[in-house]
Amino acid sequence: MNLPFVLRGIDSGREYDPREIRYRGEDGELLEVVHSKTGRPVSRKTLQERRMSHDPIDVSGVWRYRELVLPLPYRHIIVKPEGNTNLYPAGSLENSGYNRIGRYAGVENLYLKHEGENPTGSFKDRGMTAGISMAHYLGATAVACASTGNTSASLASYAAQAGMKCFVFIPAGKISYSKLAQAIAYGAVTIQIDGDFDAAMQLVEEVCISLKVYLLNSVNPFRIEGQKTIGIELIHQLNWDVPDWIVLPGGNLGNTAALGKGLSELFQRGYISRLPRVATIQAHGASPFYRSFKSGFSEFTPMQANTIASAIRIGNPVSYKKAKQTIEFTNGLVETVTDAEIMDAKAVIDRAGIGCEPASATTLAGIRKLQNAGTIRKSDRVAAILTGHVLKDPAAIADFHEGKLPGTDPVLRNTVQHAQPTLASVREIITRVLNDTV
Ligand SMILES: *Cc1c(COP(=O)(O)O)cnc(C)c1O
Repeated sequence: MNLPFVLRGIDSGREYDPREIRYRGEDGELLEVVHSKTGRPVSRKTLQERRMSHDPIDVSGVWRYRELVLPLPYRHIIVKPEGNTNLYPAGSLENSGYNRIGRYAGVENLYLKHEGENPTGSFKDRGMTAGISMAHYLGATAVACASTGNTSASLASYAAQAGMKCFVFIPAGKISYSKLAQAIAYGAVTIQIDGDFDAAMQLVEEVCISLKVYLLNSVNPFRIEGQKTIGIELIHQLNWDVPDWIVLPGGNLGNTAALGKGLSELFQRGYISRLPRVATIQAHGASPFYRSFKSGFSEFTPMQANTIASAIRIGNPVSYKKAKQTIEFTNGLVETVTDAEIMDAKAVIDRAGIGCEPASATTLAGIRKLQNAGTIRKSDRVAAILTGHVLKDPAAIADFHEGKLPGTDPVLRNTVQHAQPTLASVREIITRVLNDTV
C-alpha cells in the first residue's frame, strides 16, 4: 500500500519512498516528510470533537492531528496517549501566583505550555510516538538513539510499549541521573560512550546503518512530524488565535525545525491566517545557532558546548538547516542567555508552582532579555514552551538553592532550614517567615 507522504531531500528536492529505511538523502542531506494531500485534510470542527472522544488516538495531542502528522494504518500507531499539556496563563496581569512569571518577563500576556507534562516528562514523547509508530510500520524490532537524556528516556519507554529492543548511547559524564534512571528502568541497553554528545551522535548513526537497528535520533524525519504538534496543539488551545511570539530553547534544533514546519503547514493549509515570530533561545556556552544567526546565517561553526542546561549542551546541531528555515520563514530570531540567567528564570518558574528543567527556563530568561531590549513589547502575546519536567534535574535545583551557582540571584534562594526537635526552635523559624512581608 502506498502511504500518503514521501521523503524529500531538503537541498536537492530528490524524493524517496518512505517504505524504504533511510535517514538521509544520497549525499547525506536531511530528509523531510512531504504530505501528498493539500488543503485542510481535517476540519477544525472534527479536531474539536476529538477532544471529547475516549479513543486513545483522539485523546492523544499528537494523533488527534494525525492527518497533518503521519497518516499510518491505525494498527501501527503506538500511543500512550501523549500531549494535551497544560497551557498556563502567566502574564503580569494574571490574577494568580503565576503573574510573578509575567512580571519577571515584563509581559502582560504570557502563556507557558508545559511539555514536561508528557508521559516521560519531556516534549520528546511527541516525536517519539510518531517515530516508533513508523518503526513498527517498517517492521523494526530494535531501535537506538544518542541522547543527553530525555530522548533516551522517551525512546526506552515507547520501545518497551512496542516490544522492541532499545539501545541508548549517552555521552560520558554530565548527564542528569534522573533521565538516565528512566532509560535503565524502562529496560533500554544503555551504552556510555567515552566522548561528548556530538561524538555519541555520529557513532549511533553509523551503528544503525551497519547493524540494522532503526535510528530514532532527531535526524529521523518522522520524529519531526510528531513534534510539530506542540505548535498545532498550542494554537488549537488558543482557539486558533495565533500569538505574536512562540519562544523555545534550542539544542539539536529538532524542536525549532518541527515548530516551523508545523506553523508553515497550518498557514499553507489555511488553518491560520498569520504566523507568530519564533524565538529560539540558546545557552551562551552552547550557541552555534545564535552565532550563525548573528552572521545573517552566512556562516555556521560548530563549537565545544558547555552549559548547566544539559538538554541543550550541543555544539553541532543536527537540524541546523531546517531550524534556519523556521527563523527565516517566521521572521524570527535567535538569542542567548547565560547559565545564571537560566537558573534565575528557572527559580521564578519553579517558585510559581509550575517548575521546569534548566533548558526550559532559557525561554523566560530570553523573553525578559528581549523585552528589556524592546524587541518583545510589553503588550505582545507571548507563548513559551517549557520542554521538560522539574524533576528531570534535581541536582541543579539543590546547587542553585544552596548558593553554589555563581552569578545567580540570592533573593531567589530557598534554603533548607535546620531546627532542633522542639516547638521553640521550630516556632522561631515559622514566626520569622509569617512576619516576612514578601
Ligand atoms: C531535547 C530538549 C531540548 C532541546 O530541543 P532540540 O530539539 O534539541 O533543540 C530542550 N529542552 C529539553 C528539556 C529537551 O529535552
